[in-house]
Amino acid sequence: MIPPNNYKTNFDHYLQLYTQEEIDKVNARLKTPEDALRWAYETFGDKIAKASSFGPEDSVVTDMIIKINPKARFFTLDTGRLNQETYDVMDAIAKKYNINFEVMFPETAAVEEMVRTKGINLFYDSVENRKLCCEIRKVRPLNKILSTLDAWVTGLRRDQNENRSHAAMVELDHLHGGIVKVNPIIEWTWDQVLSYIKERNLPYNKLLDRGYTSIGCEPCTRAIKPGEDLRAGRWWWESDTHKECGLHMKH
Ligand code: SF4
Repeated sequence: MIPPNNYKTNFDHYLQLYTQEEIDKVNARLKTPEDALRWAYETFGDKIAKASSFGPEDSVVTDMIIKINPKARFFTLDTGRLNQETYDVMDAIAKKYNINFEVMFPETAAVEEMVRTKGINLFYDSVENRKLCCEIRKVRPLNKILSTLDAWVTGLRRDQNENRSHAAMVELDHLHGGIVKVNPIIEWTWDQVLSYIKERNLPYNKLLDRGYTSIGCEPCTRAIKPGEDLRAGRWWWESDTHKECGLHMKH
């Protein structure tokens, strides 16, 4: 049996942080990604951190954040199944901006038991197994760090998939106890992301040059073909078109 989640992830104390009405007023004032980030870092200080999976959007938002707050906190989820290219860009970004990434690992006992009972590549066997693997390797470590924060920053964009099509620049994250989620480039297009990286010669994940438009775990992500959706390479063997790992769900 897979061990239960032993991480302490109690979000109860955050439930009253902001009302939706207050968040609506904040959104009405913000015009640019930099406006949102300035507001976020002035408001939350060291209780806000940027989540990075080292996709192109993360390169952009990281660059914006450092210009506003050189001491900002960054975290990442190391599932143990990432591509070498992802570690390489993490290293390049850490050195360029002097960032000390807070790397969250899955709980050893849960991974060991999952692999022992379900197999090393369990995710290919069923959607249930895939979700279990994402739960243990991603969702629990994310919950662990988010339960210590008042807010987090993402690189989400609205046109990535339908689950994200209603996301706002600043929103209440009901999946994580109502803490604040800041999505500064939520309105950006894919082309804007690529232009920002190119114009500033930013470090980016070299998987992008091989057709990977969404960065995930190595066994679960492939390059996309011409004309395919930008997230079509994630869990490509599954038929559901609204695929998420449970980190960013519709609310
Ligand atoms: S993306 Fe694949 S390898 Fe990574 S946590 Fe999810 S199922 Fe596991």
